[in-house]
Amino acid sequence: MALAFDEFGRPFIILREQDQKTRLRGIDAQKANIAAGKAVARILRSSLGPKGMDKMLQGPDGDVTISNDGATILEQMDVDNQIAKLMVDLSRSQDYEIGDGTTGVVVMAGALLEQAERQLDRGIHPIRIAEGYEMASRVAVEHLERIAQKFEFDVNSYEPLVQTCMTTLSSKIVNRCKRSLAEIAVKAVLAVADLERRDVNLDLIKVEGKVGGKLEDTELIYGILVDKDMSHPQMPKHIEDAHIAILTCPFEPPKPKTKHKVDIDTVEKFETLRKQEQQYFDEMVQKCKDVGATLVICQWGFDDEANHLLMHRNLPAVRWVGGVELELIAIATGGRIVPRFQELTPEKLGKAGMVREKSFGTTKERMLYIEHCANSKAVTIFIRGGYGLGNKMMIEETKRSIHDALCVARNLIRNNSIVYGGGAAEITCSLAVDAAADKYPGVEQYAIRAFAEALDSVPMALAENSGLQPIETLSAVKSQQIKENIPFYGIDCNDVGTNDMREQNVFETLIGKQQQILLATQVVKMILKIDDVISNSEY
Ligand code: ADP
Repeated sequence: MALAFDEFGRPFIILREQDQKTRLRGIDAQKANIAAGKAVARILRSSLGPKGMDKMLQGPDGDVTISNDGATILEQMDVDNQIAKLMVDLSRSQDYEIGDGTTGVVVMAGALLEQAERQLDRGIHPIRIAEGYEMASRVAVEHLERIAQKFEFDVNSYEPLVQTCMTTLSSKIVNRCKRSLAEIAVKAVLAVADLERRDVNLDLIKVEGKVGGKLEDTELIYGILVDKDMSHPQMPKHIEDAHIAILTCPFEPPKPKTKHKVDIDTVEKFETLRKQEQQYFDEMVQKCKDVGATLVICQWGFDDEANHLLMHRNLPAVRWVGGVELELIAIATGGRIVPRFQELTPEKLGKAGMVREKSFGTTKERMLYIEHCANSKAVTIFIRGGYGLGNKMMIEETKRSIHDALCVARNLIRNNSIVYGGGAAEITCSLAVDAAADKYPGVEQYAIRAFAEALDSVPMALAENSGLQPIETLSAVKSQQIKENIPFYGIDCNDVGTNDMREQNVFETLIGKQQQILLATQVVKMILKIDDVISNSEY
């Protein structure tokens, strides 16, 4: 395709190899695009909510992912259609900015597209629909602002935060352990939060996983975790107030190079050489002790004899630590990586309140915990589990669920306004948007009403996924909201016995919900404005 200009400077498009291209114009283009968008939304619709289904996806190399997270499901799907890709991006944007609500945003966009299709059939111009949607989304966002409540918590009584994270986790595969995982997520966020600036740098929270053990064994470590153990089993397993030498040089006497020849023809000579080597290494150990090191972490290995000596001289050591980990340890403990042994000085030692080796159950696996580091607030969430399944699938899904919970806690610290979930926010917005529609004299009125109807589809999907009658349930809850003029009634997905989401403690952040509505509207507007699709006919 090429863009050219005629003699009046007006642009026109030249399509090469015309017969290989297909072209959809006008209403056909919009219909085709809407169909593609709806198809994506339909896939996610059944995984919305606490009773939502999970999806199993097989990658090109045969690895299987089971997930409930909208962004992940879409990410793993190999979609070819450009409009479908837009929906994937939509979910990704919600994930990037908010971290939660990635399924909801796609379901919302799908519903808006479905309603738009009806309006198109009625003969309303796509631009009018787009404008109506824009107005309606503004009404909804402002309405949310009005009904939002402040969510009070402080660092010492963080129970409310835990409750919120539990809401997020309740729709995930890991909901069996939602209480403990939510607590871990909140503690992690509070540990790295800058409460004065009301911000949280999630990069400071590392989420690590290791297959084995139970999900219940997942723990929060105030520091970093290294997948290594002490070089000798008799070395101390706990080192308090550790001063750490971080070495990238070999920690052993220099070995005779192959190109030099050493003649050893008597036992005495051998003994002398051995003694010399030992003495050399002994001096190295002494040097470490002199600068005040109580632990040596090395990039390279050392032989058994050296190991034995280290144990005897009471200098614990860890060998074969990878470069990336060394760097991490150096940053966290405020130490410097020492590339040449002679350069070791007391200032270059890293400091940590506690270094300990932990072994897991009956397995031989051991990990090194470097905690209360001098220089960094960084924490690590160490996920266990998946033993029964025998693969990393569970760990990966747990990582994603924890990420969602971390995002929710972070969002609340940034902005502590909340709205109620379970579709309550959507229902009250739907009512507000419907009421506002009458005020618009133009055809946009229809689009605004359609927007209100699209909002209803979120609570309907929640009801449907929980095995309830969608229309009946929605109308009952809606009339309850109108009668009592209370915007907290939603779908009782878990059959608790009340529709009051305040009582059920089901809420979502205001910014998250607003973002969902705004992003879904933007994407749908974009899709509606496309009236020409030119593509290779092979597709
Ligand atoms: P998302 O990826 O969009 O967060 P989820 O599958 O986590 O999707 O579902 C979130 C939806 O489920 C929200 O609308 C939320 O309000 C609702 N929800 C979560 N827990 C409950 C609950 N216990 N009762 C009713 N609705 C709930």
